Amino acid sequence: MPIYEYICKSCGERFSLLQKVSATEKDTTCPKCASGEVKKVMSSFCCSGSDAGLLSSSSSHGFSGSG
Ligand SMILES: [Zn+2]
Repeated sequence: MPIYEYICKSCGERFSLLQKVSATEKDTTCPKCASGEVKKVMSSFCCSGSDAGLLSSSSSHGFSGSG
């Protein structure tokens, strides 16, 4: 069985569960606040050790270079 990651919409708790493939968000409750409002998240494979920070905008710098 694969491990699924969830984020609780109520308290923001992030947890992972070993569930069946057929398991859905409705079958899952938050272990912290027992809320049913959870959201399944995809676990990242390539980029590990990174906090949940999607707000990352990089400003384009002017490419300086002369022959
Ligand atoms: Zn919760």
